[in-house]
Amino acid sequence: MRFSKFFVPTTKNAPNDAVLPSHKLLIQGGFITQVGSGIYNFLPLGKIVLDKIRNIVKEELDNASCQEVQLGFVTPSELWKESGRFAKYGKELLRFKDRKENEFVLSPTAEEMMVDLVRNRVKSYKQLPLHLYQINTKFRDEARPRFGLLRGREFLMEDGYSFHDSFEDLDREFDLMEETYSKIFKRLGLDFRVVDADSGAIGGTGSKEFMVLADNGEDDIIVCDSCQNAANIEVAKRKKRVSPYDEEPVMQPGEFYTPDTKTIESLAEFFMIEPYYLIKAVAKKAIYENGESEVVIYFLRGDDSLEETKALNAVNALEIEDASEEELEKLGITPGFIGPDVKNVKIVIDEELKEQENLICGANKKDYHFVGYSLKDKFSDNYADIAEVREGDICPHCGGVLSQTKGIEVGHIFKLGDRYSKPMKAEFLDQNGKSKPFIMGTYGIGVSRLVAVIIEQSHDEKGCVWTKQSAPFMLDIIVSNIKNEEELKFADKIYDKLLSMGKEVIIDDRKERFGFKMKDFELIGFPYALIVGKSLKEGKVEVVDRKTLEKTTVDIDKIEEYLKELI
Ligand code: ATP
Ligand code: MG
Repeated sequence: MRFSKFFVPTTKNAPNDAVLPSHKLLIQGGFITQVGSGIYNFLPLGKIVLDKIRNIVKEELDNASCQEVQLGFVTPSELWKESGRFAKYGKELLRFKDRKENEFVLSPTAEEMMVDLVRNRVKSYKQLPLHLYQINTKFRDEARPRFGLLRGREFLMEDGYSFHDSFEDLDREFDLMEETYSKIFKRLGLDFRVVDADSGAIGGTGSKEFMVLADNGEDDIIVCDSCQNAANIEVAKRKKRVSPYDEEPVMQPGEFYTPDTKTIESLAEFFMIEPYYLIKAVAKKAIYENGESEVVIYFLRGDDSLEETKALNAVNALEIEDASEEELEKLGITPGFIGPDVKNVKIVIDEELKEQENLICGANKKDYHFVGYSLKDKFSDNYADIAEVREGDICPHCGGVLSQTKGIEVGHIFKLGDRYSKPMKAEFLDQNGKSKPFIMGTYGIGVSRLVAVIIEQSHDEKGCVWTKQSAPFMLDIIVSNIKNEEELKFADKIYDKLLSMGKEVIIDDRKERFGFKMKDFELIGFPYALIVGKSLKEGKVEVVDRKTLEKTTVDIDKIEEYLKELI
């Protein structure tokens, strides 16, 4: 490619709302432009990178016997009603009608379309397993589209769906996909972890996420310092905690007058005790699939925090929000003094508190707490894991210390079971001639998000630093002064030679100053530059490594060999 003919509108100006390096640099480097909130165009440079990632994804999936298809992006709502997701999905699902009043959605994932494609076409266990995937546009009307390609509304996703005759075969495919996805992210040069994850709105029996470790990530992940255990904080587990005291404090059970002590801090101070022995009450409003809602009170140790996703799953709610004081008072509940014996309301107690004694909790009476409270043999149906695991907690697998880091989700694999095939009546005949719903898995990679993730993990203050597998071109041949015929001739010769060897090279033959071209090289982030400049007279050229910005002087009769090795 010749820079003089290439459309790369680099710019010094970063968009006002860009806070992350990848967002700024991809726009400044002329990779993408923004069309509207969460919607982006890919310019030639961006498209090359996107296609490279796409090809790696395709290559590895095809190697794992997955087959590429392409589904319609516009999906009849009927299918979504069949699966029950039409009501469940919420505002992220863009719904609209055509001129004949037929209802459609823009696909945010394609379980329904894929089940519809397979049902009545795959009829026997003999045709299983089958894994179909597509790399196609998705739309999600995200509440907060931001960070450029990281959280768009329109984005490119690889989404795969597998069909099996048994859970055992699904397990096999799930493991194969964990391996295949890992290969893809390794090839892209990413530092990532596979973590246990929540199954979310899609529903299912098991799921893992692929998290690229990045300070700017939106996900919190818990990793063990000693073993391979890693989990999204939404599902992370820990070993049962131990008392901060050598001996458990013993309390005389009874109500205690505690005026104005509505917070855990003031209560701990009042009784001069570690918050570990206090019971914290968190009042929420759970909103369910059928549109109904109710107040739920969650109880935890005073120094633990409620994990929202766990709280949501514990009551099978769709959403959860803070309950107001008025809502509580209407139920006869006294905010600030709520204890597990509260009446007229659903309660959930953290597993950590099971069978515990010598606790202090609200007495469900204004200005009173109960001291010496015991949970022995009480509320056996109300326990769930609802506490947030934190830095310093103990790994349940190996006893190591857990720490918390940030990650960006780049892939997600789910075991779906018959969650879609059953309601949609997608069935096959098993070996005994019996009709059964398909056992399914679903798998997704954020292909356009990956473009940004690579830069999030690999950039410096001057610009992008592409990994070898994702770079739009491996080498930028910079002609220092194109008016100098010798320079241009030599650069052209090398360019042609490398092209003929199938190398990915671009030649900067623009009528611009050397400094300008160098700045573009640094901003765009090609792995290497070859500078053909003044030293050509002495038979020398320079090679710049973008990552280290180190320059190496090479004799012109050795340069071809040198570059052949390098790129
Ligand atoms: P997130 O938690 O980041 O919102 P998700 O769990 O909703 O993602 P999935 O349904 O698992 O996403 O989709 C599969 C993959 O698609 C994700 O792992 C992610 O890489 C990508 N993806 C999801 N939402 C977006 C988005 N808004 N913009 C770009 N990529 C996305
Ligand atoms: Mg996900």
